[in-house]
Amino acid sequence: MISDVNSSGQTTCPYCGVGCGVDAQLVNGTIDGVSGTKDHPANQGRLCVKGSALHETLSQETRALHPKISGIRTDWDSALDHVSASLKKIISEHGPNSVAFYLSGQLLTEDYYVANKLMKGFVGTANVDTNSRLCMASAVAGYKRAFGSDTVPCNYEDLSHCDLLLLIGSNAAWTHPVLYQRISEAKAQRPQMKIVVIDPRKTASCDIADLHLQLKPGSDTFVFVGLLNYLVEKRAIDHEFIERHTEGFEKTFAQCATHDLESTAQETGLDIADLEQFFKWFSRTEKTVSFYSQGINQSATGTDKCNAIINCHLATGRIGQEGMGPFSITGQPNAMGGREVGGLANQLAAHMDFDEESIDRVSRFWGAPNIARTPGLKAVELFSAIHSGKIKAVWIMATNPVVSLPDSEFVREALSKCELVIVSDCIEKTDTNAYADVLLPATGWSEKDGTVTNSERRISRQRGLMAPSGESKHDWWIICEVAKRLGFVEAFDYASPREIFVEHAALSAFENNGTRDFDIGSLADLTESQYASLAPIQWPVNAASPNGTARMFTDFRFFTPNGKARFIATEPALPQQAANFDTPFTLNTGRLRDQWHTMTRTGLSQRLMSHSPFPVASINPRDARNFGIREGDLVSVFNTDSQSRKQSLTLSANIDAGIADEQLFIPMHWNDQFASNARVSKLIPSVTDPYSGQPESKFARVGLRATPAFLWLSAISRTPLEQGPFDFWVQTRLAGGWHYLLADTKGENESAWLDWISSVQNGYEKIELSNTLMHDYRTLGCKNKRIEVAIFANPKREKLPEISWQYELFNHPVDAQSWRLLTRHEGNSLAQNRIICSCFQVSEQQIKEAIAQGANSTAELGTKLRCGTNCGSCLPELAQFLTQ
Ligand code: SF4
Repeated sequence: MISDVNSSGQTTCPYCGVGCGVDAQLVNGTIDGVSGTKDHPANQGRLCVKGSALHETLSQETRALHPKISGIRTDWDSALDHVSASLKKIISEHGPNSVAFYLSGQLLTEDYYVANKLMKGFVGTANVDTNSRLCMASAVAGYKRAFGSDTVPCNYEDLSHCDLLLLIGSNAAWTHPVLYQRISEAKAQRPQMKIVVIDPRKTASCDIADLHLQLKPGSDTFVFVGLLNYLVEKRAIDHEFIERHTEGFEKTFAQCATHDLESTAQETGLDIADLEQFFKWFSRTEKTVSFYSQGINQSATGTDKCNAIINCHLATGRIGQEGMGPFSITGQPNAMGGREVGGLANQLAAHMDFDEESIDRVSRFWGAPNIARTPGLKAVELFSAIHSGKIKAVWIMATNPVVSLPDSEFVREALSKCELVIVSDCIEKTDTNAYADVLLPATGWSEKDGTVTNSERRISRQRGLMAPSGESKHDWWIICEVAKRLGFVEAFDYASPREIFVEHAALSAFENNGTRDFDIGSLADLTESQYASLAPIQWPVNAASPNGTARMFTDFRFFTPNGKARFIATEPALPQQAANFDTPFTLNTGRLRDQWHTMTRTGLSQRLMSHSPFPVASINPRDARNFGIREGDLVSVFNTDSQSRKQSLTLSANIDAGIADEQLFIPMHWNDQFASNARVSKLIPSVTDPYSGQPESKFARVGLRATPAFLWLSAISRTPLEQGPFDFWVQTRLAGGWHYLLADTKGENESAWLDWISSVQNGYEKIELSNTLMHDYRTLGCKNKRIEVAIFANPKREKLPEISWQYELFNHPVDAQSWRLLTRHEGNSLAQNRIICSCFQVSEQQIKEAIAQGANSTAELGTKLRCGTNCGSCLPELAQFLTQ
């Protein structure tokens, strides 16, 4: 920790699985600015917009600063004693399986390791699962079925070195922007490199695609089963590789044999010529990378989808060499680290499972005779067991399951019924923390110290650069203190994260002898100073590869008993939820460019909020017309599915030609802290993949209804406001204040609106402008010659001012002429004026004007407006405007 000097420190971004290196500039112990680490292999100096705004998200005001029991502040000893005594009591009365941990891909590997060791090794239950179950569990299951191990064969260089890149179920331009920039650069240097996007949505990633296969939602397995059939038919398979290095080809092919080009086109809804073009490219291109993400994993058949992709690589021998392989990219910063320690309920530790030999080995290594002997409950099952009372205590760390798990009203109910809910979090107020009996304040990014592993198996240091906020403590410390109080003093007597890391490294090498892929034995002797300065390195790191391993399976030996990779026969199937009259739409969910998970951090940056400030449902223009919906109208999206509770959301309509007919897209980030009713997980039924237990978060049947608003209000305030009587509200953080978009959809509340406006103005000098004929009302609340609050109300949303115009009011001194400020806007909040370049706050309107004036490349737009010249995250959208 180097908080007391003006200096710089090197660390890793806490957001996505790219794992970018970050250089942080410190002034008076606080991070004042960040830049990409030039020599970090993952990002080579780049950062996306989220990474480059990290220093803007370190606000103390939302942090959990003190331990609390039942909402009342206490000291650490009392909190830890209470947690351990309560757990002890529940375990003694109901057995070890009555308690559970729910962990997170945001934890560092050291935190993860001790949590897993405590539960599986010492409490004696494997009820330890993680939010990574929602991210990449199907990819893990697919790899293990094919390779006998959870091994990502590729690395990021392969993305630049391939001649054909498939982006399958991935909008990398928004979800993994730094990798997308690397891909774009390779494409610009070698235009002959082909890129095929396979996605039901036309996304920003299609900007560089040679071909977009806009398939029916969930039909991916058909594409790859059809491809395997085509490869055989065209004699494009590698017989020698299949014979020497694989098993199960005959059975798998037999299952594919009926899936010809025509039937594949029919099942997927794709144009047959497009499909054939893709098949031809694949069959003729040796250096092919299949890059896949949540669009594949978050499915009831996610594991089969992964194996259908892997099958095509095995059939062509395209694995283990530069520029080729099936490459699962993880969403979370340390999903891979969690997999390494065994953070999933069906893993034991260090890439070992619950076979007798592994149980015995880990038990001896840990000195843990009470070790769990069977897999525990996976995330959805785990919360179901909490709901039924089977699990009586849950400790949730660094995650927000009330927002992220499917059927989240069920999750909320489960937590409200649970005897003991312990939450460790760096944020005080979240949808989940509302149910905490005990809240333990944890350190956050820039304070935490340990390691993370990115999607290419690269272990990097996340360093503690600042002092912990308030009384917050590191997660590993909190877990170890509870473990000691439970009686396991010796096994959890660590003085530093380095001591945990070297034990983790030693376990990975223990009785390994090349039988397990995950082996970082060469890091088991790191001293404190070596650990402090550890450079990014890709596992395995052992005697055979002391400098790490860039690529796996270069010798075509796999971690199955006979060393051969396995073809897995998959029977393609479409999602099972059928449409009915009330629910004709299929709902897709996903991430926005500038937001991360449940917005607890990215929601604090005005810059990041400016790209998509409101929760939206994206809808095709034809469907919008049919339903009488215009841009910015309120819509209700609802389910009637018997598999989840009947729920509805109220969102702002976003007309998007990239959405196919009868489909909707809703971002996954919004929650009850930021909006009245936009938590999309409420609509997702708890359908899971049978192998991985991963929920089908990309598919739900829903209906849509226009929801007229009788009054709209746009308010800025220097202090937070109550949302009053409005049944639709969105709260957005501004630098030095808040913005509120409010609407009344019931039309019965006129006196309540007026009461609310009066209460908001209470104590302020009021300046008003009212046009009764137009039902237009504008008011400023001032104090000490400063505008404290500004409210604009009109029955038409488009008559409200833009946020940026309204925000500028804060800069005007108050004088006798201030009423004129209220006359200066004509209302254009919907006039195509979204902020596209968050770094330089360049709007859609400015970009369109520059194009109209002759700018005809992203470079020219950059010269003229500076957009796209910093982090580059907006480049795909700039290119889209140019194409339009
Ligand atoms: Fe962070 Fe962006 Fe890099 Fe992901 S791509 S690790 S969010 S800087």
